[in-house]
Amino acid sequence: SNEPTARVTTQSRALQQRAARLLPGGVDSPVRAFLAVGGDPPFVTHAKGAYLWDADGNRYLDFFGSWGPMILGHAFEPVVEAIQQAAARGASFGASHAGEANLAELVTRCFPSIQKLRFVSSGTEACMSAIRLARGFTGRKFVVKFEGCYHGHADALLVKAGSGIATLGIPGSAGVPEETAMHTLALPYNDLTAVELAFENHPEQIACIILEPVVGNAGTIAPAPGFLSELRRLCTQHGALLIVDEVMTGFRLSLGGAQQMYGVQADITTLGKIVGGGLPCGVFGGRAEIMDYLAPLGPVYQAGTLSGNPLAMAAGIATLEHLIQHEGEVYGGLERVTAHIADGVASIAHAAGIPLTTNRVGSMFTWFFTDQPVTDFASAATSDTKAFARFHRAMLEAGVWLPPSQYEAAFISTAHRDVEIGLALDAARHALR
Ligand code: PMP
Repeated sequence: SNEPTARVTTQSRALQQRAARLLPGGVDSPVRAFLAVGGDPPFVTHAKGAYLWDADGNRYLDFFGSWGPMILGHAFEPVVEAIQQAAARGASFGASHAGEANLAELVTRCFPSIQKLRFVSSGTEACMSAIRLARGFTGRKFVVKFEGCYHGHADALLVKAGSGIATLGIPGSAGVPEETAMHTLALPYNDLTAVELAFENHPEQIACIILEPVVGNAGTIAPAPGFLSELRRLCTQHGALLIVDEVMTGFRLSLGGAQQMYGVQADITTLGKIVGGGLPCGVFGGRAEIMDYLAPLGPVYQAGTLSGNPLAMAAGIATLEHLIQHEGEVYGGLERVTAHIADGVASIAHAAGIPLTTNRVGSMFTWFFTDQPVTDFASAATSDTKAFARFHRAMLEAGVWLPPSQYEAAFISTAHRDVEIGLALDAARHALR
């Protein structure tokens, strides 16, 4: 896997070796170690717009956008200023401040299904807390999730999960007792019959269904027509809550996320990534009667020292204000540029006789190295991950940094324009050769 490289990687390699003595794998999140694709992970010094720079001075066109948050590009000036001004007023108070309701107002304006919400510090916390709330509210134990969907690393959700779990090819995680996972039912995505059967087999015991409305964590997979609306109907019919995990899709597919795009209403929505403008921030929110089940009003406990952090609120407000003010331009532009890149590379591969299935919804997409349609985790797993790894390394050599796993979505920002389309297609032409 350590093919000769034309890039200089001396500094990044030294930094990785130092980090590996102190941090397991040299990383704080497994996929950053590049195990699935091989080669040295570049150590980033700074980022601006659509580009990242590494410690050896190499520049990369960024196709993963910090895994979603950087929809306006890196170091977007209004966001930088908002963070600087907030930092000067104090990094954390551990007490209420106006920024929380300011950001909450923007979020509820975009998501009509959210009447009340609570801020947390990550997508993991948002989904973990949403599950606890759903169980507390319904008085039921079982949770339905889908294979290949990732909802953070809470114990009950690390069952047949996507993202790093799929990349490492493991069914779950050591350290999660069977007793903790036994109330989690992991079903194939887009399979309504499996969901109906689960409700039949566990009558009045299913607290909630949680899903990625468009999957990003098995690579990009769209919901089949009717899948979301039928899940909505089944949940209502059986008294279960529908938790729509919009950590990736919220503010990305549209201002109102996948719910706006597909016309479906969640009972509880989880958000992360874009909502914090690149700072640690997550949200879970929904109908007031459900949210009021939370302490201090209700019996479901949930708390956080850094929750509603003033810097995160400021970055989130600056980001959402820009998205709201420039909605048409932002989402129209993202659609156009992403389609051009995703379809452009697909035709280059097609012309070269390389089997490639391109899945794209808005500005998230995946090039699967398979000739099968990809509609669930099993079909995603027909991909030739070795071919993907070679493609990834060749693209990196050509200055384009893709997400370092077949089972991850790529993301485009508003800083990606015609120049970047050209760079991407040139790199792919070279890499696919
Ligand atoms: N849900 C989804 C859909 C995600 O994509 C992610 C992270 N990629 C999470 C939850 C977890 O978020 P975090 O990494 O902020 O804990």
